Amino acid sequence: MSAYAPPTTLSPSRIDSFLSCPLAFRFSSLDELFDPPTEATVRGTMVHQALEHFYERPNSERRAEHLHSAVDQMLSEYETNDDVLFLGLTDAKFVKLGDECRKLALNAIEMEDPQQVNPVGLELRIEATFGDVTLRGIIDRLERDGDGRLVITDYKTGRAPGPSFEKKALAGVHFYALLCQQEFEEDASELRLMYVKSSQTISARPSSKTISFTEQRLTAVHQAISQACESGKFPTRKSALCNYCTFQQWCPEFGGDPQVALVEAPRRPDVA
Ligand code: SF4
Repeated sequence: MSAYAPPTTLSPSRIDSFLSCPLAFRFSSLDELFDPPTEATVRGTMVHQALEHFYERPNSERRAEHLHSAVDQMLSEYETNDDVLFLGLTDAKFVKLGDECRKLALNAIEMEDPQQVNPVGLELRIEATFGDVTLRGIIDRLERDGDGRLVITDYKTGRAPGPSFEKKALAGVHFYALLCQQEFEEDASELRLMYVKSSQTISARPSSKTISFTEQRLTAVHQAISQACESGKFPTRKSALCNYCTFQQWCPEFGGDPQVALVEAPRRPDVA
């Protein structure tokens, strides 16, 4: 009997989680342990929401003053957000977080001409099935360029990767290109990662070759996850990410016991 039922759906972030550390993937995705929000993760979702409100507006209403309205709207929505409440911020700290979001969102719209952006979808949920697995993703912004071709944009609020890590950073958006190809039966012309903190954009041009490779990669990762579920073996992968890992105290690399996590660690509130 399998230790875990293999997942029938995956997302680019779950794929990245498994490839980064199979044990951390097991804890969060299969054991459904609570991975609490941090100020950085909450700041990221808040900036995404402000930019979504901004780009919902007609092209002619996309100037700095409209961005401020979009941020204000987002802040009023986030005042009572579960993740913000979990952080237990004082009023002053919430104001500071809001100011940081405003600055990042302003950076984002200064990186391009917002009036030339023609969105097809914002925070667009998209899924497609490939063999035994359904791939699901949320595209921050899907738009048509001046030639009418699809462009996929993903906002990032963290630090931009160095040149040797750019390819790895783009791996997630290649899955979005695969989803778009299935949904719209056309190849995206460009994939963009917008690092709004440092105002850097990393981009790639997908091709039928990269899309086919991405589909093979999805199948291979799904097989690897299914085998791990069958055997119950989820190896650790020690890296700089361990410094931020919620599950460190139950990780064998740090003298912990993964089975004890099942007893001690809190479960995600949505499944508890
Ligand atoms: S501490 Fe590191 S090796 Fe251990 S589970 Fe977390 S990410 Fe994996």
